[in-house]
Amino acid sequence: MSSTNFTPRYLKVALSVPMRRLFDYRLPEGESVSDWPAGIRVKVPFGKSHRIGLLVEHASSTEWQPEQVKPAQQRLDDQPLLPESLWQLSLWSAKYYQHALGDALLSTLPTKLREGGALSAGNIRQWRLTAAGQQTTPASLSRAKAQQHLLSLFQQEQALTDNAIAEQAGSRSALLAMEKKALIEAFSIASGDAKWGEKLQISSDTPVLNKEQAAAVAAIRGSQQQFQPFLLEGVTGSGKTEVYLQAMAPVLEAGKQVLMLVPEIGLTPQTLSRFQKRFNCPIAMLHSGLNDTERLDAWLQARDNRAGIVIGTRSAIFTPCHQLGMIIVDEEHDMSLKQQEGYRYHARDLAVARAQKEQLPLLLGSATPSLETLQNALHGRYQHLQLRSRAGNAQAVKHQLLDIKGRPLDQGFSPELLGLIKQHLHNDGQVLVFLNRRGYAPSLICHECGYLEECRRCDAYYTLHQRTGLLQCHHCGSQKPVPHQCPECGSTRLLGRGVGTEQLEQALQRHFPEHPCIRIDRDSTRRKGALDAFLGQIKRGEAKLLLGTQMLAKGHHFPEVTLVVIMDVDGALFSADFRAPERLGQLITQVAGRAGRAGKQGTLVMQTHHPEHILLQDLLQNGYGHFARTALSERKQAQLPPFRHLALFRAESHRSEDAEAFLMQLSALLQQKLIESAIELGAVLGPMPAPMERKAGRFRWQLLLESAERKTLHQWLHGILVQAEKLPISRKIRWSLDIDPQDL
Ligand code: ADP
Repeated sequence: MSSTNFTPRYLKVALSVPMRRLFDYRLPEGESVSDWPAGIRVKVPFGKSHRIGLLVEHASSTEWQPEQVKPAQQRLDDQPLLPESLWQLSLWSAKYYQHALGDALLSTLPTKLREGGALSAGNIRQWRLTAAGQQTTPASLSRAKAQQHLLSLFQQEQALTDNAIAEQAGSRSALLAMEKKALIEAFSIASGDAKWGEKLQISSDTPVLNKEQAAAVAAIRGSQQQFQPFLLEGVTGSGKTEVYLQAMAPVLEAGKQVLMLVPEIGLTPQTLSRFQKRFNCPIAMLHSGLNDTERLDAWLQARDNRAGIVIGTRSAIFTPCHQLGMIIVDEEHDMSLKQQEGYRYHARDLAVARAQKEQLPLLLGSATPSLETLQNALHGRYQHLQLRSRAGNAQAVKHQLLDIKGRPLDQGFSPELLGLIKQHLHNDGQVLVFLNRRGYAPSLICHECGYLEECRRCDAYYTLHQRTGLLQCHHCGSQKPVPHQCPECGSTRLLGRGVGTEQLEQALQRHFPEHPCIRIDRDSTRRKGALDAFLGQIKRGEAKLLLGTQMLAKGHHFPEVTLVVIMDVDGALFSADFRAPERLGQLITQVAGRAGRAGKQGTLVMQTHHPEHILLQDLLQNGYGHFARTALSERKQAQLPPFRHLALFRAESHRSEDAEAFLMQLSALLQQKLIESAIELGAVLGPMPAPMERKAGRFRWQLLLESAERKTLHQWLHGILVQAEKLPISRKIRWSLDIDPQDL
């Protein structure tokens, strides 16, 4: 055989289709393999049309009949799209999470690239003050509040994109009015600056670090250019962000980029402005509020080294960087770092993998570390840095449990609680009331016969939304007008049962009519820019009563809050989910952390029927650190993560028996493989119905695998998905696999 027979003439291409295989194409006539390196985008015929895919590898043969293999149409890039290390990480991640390679690779690219667009975002239009605008004072616009607000934004930011304006100001008419008055003008330049490294200036306006902060910064600075994970465990307000800023400085000074992941709603203008004040380099931001052009632009800024700092939510872990020097994961315990649908990766775990591949220091920061990370730190795999006290002159928060057994409740509030709120308002403090349940009431009940309105498609009650006059299912999104009569007995005495944020707002307004109340939940912040507008109002002290769901609990810095109220902790105390205590501990600690962040004393009050409960007592008396260590030893005894490794198959179908039958067959395959491969340390649990058995009309079942060794688990799963796909019943149902599931 001549050597030319070995020349790879076939291209193995990943396409975004839910099939667990690559697709073979022929190198077009006259093209040379060296012009088609792995990692470029290619356009290929698919069915009657074409698709954009990623070239994964070359091959000299194909399992198909050669004449069946069509030539690729075109290559879209000269060079691989991603740096080699990130490409390798992406391949590894798809394999680790057992996700179809094409979908894994393509779903993490900006949409424009996925659709075959050019590697350029073009110039993005921005707005800035004109000379006249610079001389205008906010006072002179006092009759046009929206313009006044916009002017103050421009005075802080220098330039704003259309999107940033829509988000932070919300009003387009103010923008147009200001343009008409020639106070602002549009301009466009390529974003970022490739020379940021040479121009870097670091503000010297920094606080003097306390001992623990200084020790943390010194440890991190001492481990550049090597893989070293750190857990920075610091109580809320202990100055973790200050540690990040000072630890980043030498990395940026060395001309290297810093990638920071933040939770979905932690990406506040406050965070950004702290970074901008410290470093004058361009910052690329990647979050869900961007349009496709802006996302591509931010991605390219990072890849082409036109930004020194890259900040983003979970998918930003896949952002290519020209020369990365450090990764930071803020609030590493936050659930939003795990993608719960489709490609179910955990961005924190991928951050560890990426830091290892690229030999980088990795900072995982949290006031309430996840038990997984804590275990790694206690075991010495991560260096453990602790900040035990609050920074500056902020004091520790005082706690109080309000026993509501037998007490009269007025729309959820006990008389003692109302008294406390009154007292704090009287002393000019802000009060934050937290309840993780939006709507007016979590169900609608007939007062005559007890009938409860249930969603017809889910095992759940409808939530009453009084303002819109609708009953809504929070699981499938279906809604209908609130009925006038009970469908069972015809009575008109229909009442909301239980309390949601909408009702709390009503109660607070009734009790404290002189104080405006701001409610922050998914309903009240649906409009673009609404959340930022609310946060601005709170910061300016325009409202003393703040109320909300977990959107309010995270990351925000409200210096004037002196009282934080958790309306109801009882639900989580008796949950069947083994992670419930950990989540409750995190939530209580994070919510409490919103109080007393400046010089004022903060107080946390929780209403409960179980003040003696051991979880609450441990948390309040000993703090999250102790609480989490106790929880870890319980997990060890019960043989649960992080001491065991889990994988969860989920199946759903309109016919319950199909979903169950699929998992039964899968279970048989898995059991058989256990025996054949002599895998000792594995167990299959189920099939069992999911905690919510029916959702959106589908019956849901699950099958849990567990193993003492991660490696064993993966060895066991290897090849099983291909077998599962071949089961005829798999075509009748929807199913998925979740590696290291967070929700069981
Ligand atoms: P965390 O990220 O842990 O919640 P931050 O870094 O936001 O804490 O710090 C909380 C507040 O304390 C911020 O206003 C910050 O500027 C301030 N701060 C941080 N470190 C110090 C310090 N060493 N001295 C004085 N103030 C500090």
